[in-house]
Amino acid sequence: MIQTQCCVVGGGPAGLMLGCLLARAGVEIVVVEKHADFFRDFRGDTIHPSTLELLYELGQIDEFISKVNPQEYPSLDVVLDGHVVHGPDFTTLPTHCKFIAIAPQWDFLNFMADFAKRYPTFQLMMSTDATQLIQENGVVVGVKAQQGEETIEIRANLVVSADGRSSKLREQVGLVADEVGIPVDVLWFHLPKTQEDPQGHILGRVGGGTMMVTIDRGTYFQCGQVIAKGGFSAVQGEGLPAFCQKIVKIAPFLEEATHSLKDWDQVKLLSVQINRLPQWAVPGYLCIGDAAHAMSPAGGVGVNFAVQDAVATSNLLAEKLRTGSVTLEDLNLVQKRRERPVKIIQRLQAFAHKKLFNPEQGFQSRGIGMFAFRSMVTLFAPIVRRKMAQMIGLGPLPEHVETREVSA
Ligand SMILES: Cc1cc2nc3c(=O)[nH]c(=O)nc-3n(C[C@H](O)[C@H](O)[C@H](O)COP(=O)(O)OP(=O)(O)OC[C@H]3O[C@@H](n4cnc5c(N)ncnc54)[C@H](O)[C@@H]3O)c2cc1C
Repeated sequence: MIQTQCCVVGGGPAGLMLGCLLARAGVEIVVVEKHADFFRDFRGDTIHPSTLELLYELGQIDEFISKVNPQEYPSLDVVLDGHVVHGPDFTTLPTHCKFIAIAPQWDFLNFMADFAKRYPTFQLMMSTDATQLIQENGVVVGVKAQQGEETIEIRANLVVSADGRSSKLREQVGLVADEVGIPVDVLWFHLPKTQEDPQGHILGRVGGGTMMVTIDRGTYFQCGQVIAKGGFSAVQGEGLPAFCQKIVKIAPFLEEATHSLKDWDQVKLLSVQINRLPQWAVPGYLCIGDAAHAMSPAGGVGVNFAVQDAVATSNLLAEKLRTGSVTLEDLNLVQKRRERPVKIIQRLQAFAHKKLFNPEQGFQSRGIGMFAFRSMVTLFAPIVRRKMAQMIGLGPLPEHVETREVSA
């Protein structure tokens, strides 16, 4: 049995950032992660200016840039029917890094784990699957976890679920997310970089009824194709050659690269979800990140919101955890602070999906929604691009590290 002040379930962006901040503030913390490493492909790879600003506040930004060497996107540009449209302009933000950094999520997580390990109160248990919350008299007092054949009991003043959108733990205390209906799913796959993208650093392409994201990963492109919700089997039914043709239609420079797609096993389905728990906490237990609210990939804000939740949690609870226990009222403060920004962005995402995607005709590059977007960006380019950068790059209520470093 392990006794600690806080147990975080899940070593994703939310769990590792929280583990790191609490350990830095002198709280005894155990993070459990069911996988043996952080190497999981097709996850959120976007590190927004607000997250980079947090790394600056933690004195880690130079090390992060030099170790991880991310791609730097000063603006998010898309190609609409062959024409480049410049999106949010991050160079206008009042942050130290005026770009979105794009790097494999495992590099970010390895970096955060290495940073957290400097603090003696931080413990990371890999290959440890939290299976059950331990409850006594209506209060969560710990978790049972499986490490190989061994069952471990981790007792803690607070258990935080940062175990993602498929959290198994939250159901055990009756927390169920409200779903917002979304008309799209995304298919992710890799294509080798047989030639450079002739249009430069482009993140998205819209045309011919489809939308595709292309993230340059040095030797290959990570691609995400938007399809109708539940439409993967129909896409498979049309066959791989038809799928490749759609890719080439929207991104002709990928023609040679599509020859590498030989099997549907190379294509992974992301079931896009937007949902939110009506209640994030019960006594002794709190949900943050995707476990509290799954975001759509639109704007690539999922990682950023998970990190922001972690910072708010640490700011609000670190001192109370270090010196005693936390009450349900304390835990509810986290939801009170973070729910509004989450709701604002989720509503914008749901609106964009509804206006731009028609289940029969696919992605609308010519509809009224897209016309309005194009006109706004063209007519009021500097203002619109600045506002979009604030909304996407920082979010509605950017958090800052407010806790003191207690031990190193
Ligand atoms: C295919 C895909 C593409 C995406 N693209 C983007 C993007 O481009 N930009 C973006 O910002 N967001 C994107 N997202 C969303 C983004 O990855 C998430 O919003 C973000 O990672 C949420 O962070 P989190 O820490 O809350 O949860 P997660 O990243 O899901 O981390 C949860 C962690 O908990 C662990 N875990 C789960 N259950 C247990 C258990 N019982 N015991 C121990 N450990 C457990 C998991 O292994 C995982 O490591 C994408 C998501 C997917 C699935």
